[in-house]
Amino acid sequence: MNLTNPYLDADGDKLREECGIFGVIGAKDAAAMTALGLHALQHRGQEACGIVSFDGKDFFARRGLGHVAQVFSSNDIFDELPGPMASGHVRYSTTGGSGLRNIQPLHADLARGGFSVAHNGNISNALHLKHDLVNKGAIFQSTSDTEVILHLIATSRFPKLLDRFVDALRLVEGAYSLICQTTKRMIACRDPLGIRPLVMGRIGEAVVFASETVALDVVGATFEREIEPGEVVEVRLDGRLTSHHPFGKTNPRPCVFEHVYFSRPDSVMGGQSVYEVRKAIGVELAKESPVEADLVIPVPDSGVPAAIGYAQQSGIPFELGIIRSHYVGRTFIQPEDGARHADVKRKHNANRALVEGKRIVLIDDSIVRGTTSMKIVQMMRDAGAAEVHMRVASPPTENSCFYGVDTPERHKLLAARMNVQGMAEFIHADSLAFVSIDGLYRAVGEKERNASCPQFCDACFSGDYPTRLTDMEEREAPAEPLLVS
Ligand code: AMP
Repeated sequence: MNLTNPYLDADGDKLREECGIFGVIGAKDAAAMTALGLHALQHRGQEACGIVSFDGKDFFARRGLGHVAQVFSSNDIFDELPGPMASGHVRYSTTGGSGLRNIQPLHADLARGGFSVAHNGNISNALHLKHDLVNKGAIFQSTSDTEVILHLIATSRFPKLLDRFVDALRLVEGAYSLICQTTKRMIACRDPLGIRPLVMGRIGEAVVFASETVALDVVGATFEREIEPGEVVEVRLDGRLTSHHPFGKTNPRPCVFEHVYFSRPDSVMGGQSVYEVRKAIGVELAKESPVEADLVIPVPDSGVPAAIGYAQQSGIPFELGIIRSHYVGRTFIQPEDGARHADVKRKHNANRALVEGKRIVLIDDSIVRGTTSMKIVQMMRDAGAAEVHMRVASPPTENSCFYGVDTPERHKLLAARMNVQGMAEFIHADSLAFVSIDGLYRAVGEKERNASCPQFCDACFSGDYPTRLTDMEEREAPAEPLLVS
């Protein structure tokens, strides 16, 4: 299968997103708490955010482009988001005018009352479902795959809302962690494979849902448990909680890249400290790919925990040879290559006094297009490093993600274009090595990757996608031959 990305609509708008979600029910200041929770999830999406609240009678919404602190910049804003229930969303938005209409949570007035949805993940048959719905007369307001869920609920034939919700999700393939609000309850749900994370906590009488535990910490909630893969949890406004497992049991495949890069290191995921896992990847990397050097230097911030692990295992001193400006966001989110190139330079600078004349091991979490590594290796050389060895705390990223992590199309992935030797030459490193897939699995607490039934979704490394990719298959399918009479 040639996996070019079909999630581009006519105006060049991307349907897939990278997101964080948060919801709370039973709190006095639900919207303000949601803003705080979203702030802790800001690393999952930095271009747009929104909150929808419900006061027992009406829904209220505020959405905007920008960081949480910009869109929810004063306390007065929360007076306009009243009620004991609220949910919110942060995302990497798309460029162009249609960005605004895609900001979540999405809301619709359905036959059974108002319904809002905040979605983290990506639906891999969204285009297929959308074509069907549009052919039946549905009018879409956004280009977001999430809106498909709203239309499927609206057109389901089941009388009860929860049954409609489950009925809709049975048609959906791909990754989804959802926080929804109805006029009676909050519904939190994870797809049957549990690809994207979702946790539950409590603060006083209130129940909180969030993409990562760090958001629970920040709002002062105690972690209760993860939402299980395929679980639907309903919390009514009176506090009653019900759990359902409507999809049957499947072997879970949570995303391993959450551990490598995406989640905050102070989160706990799948019972593991993300920070400790990253350090353990560094240890594995040092065992698998040792090198004689004077210093271990992380590419900040994402390479720091793995570099600590690499340094501890190898005995080579850990030093900050690259200083990062904290006033530049993630370089990756810039859609234009030119903007990303400039940002790498604004973001990182060499600590020349330290690096000069030294043989260094650079550690980063991943190489995607190779832009960052190429610039940083050059930066180290310009600062006088004698040798620059690059060690990467994930296997080569050879495949696009279709489940909600924003990786570029396959032909732009360095590892899809060349082998490790070619990549080393491309980034101009004296040597280059990636942790093996089994090394990564050991770091997350497994003995090895179970090839017949992998414990994680690692499709970006292995190409083993755990769901159908209907939109992709349909795009790649040969056109129907014309009938000539
Ligand atoms: P690149 O410059 O394209 O090779 O990107 C690699 C850098 O981007 C690494 O330093 C990673 O920390 C970071 N990165 C990798 N994957 C992602 C992602 N999905 N979203 C944002 N940043 C990423």
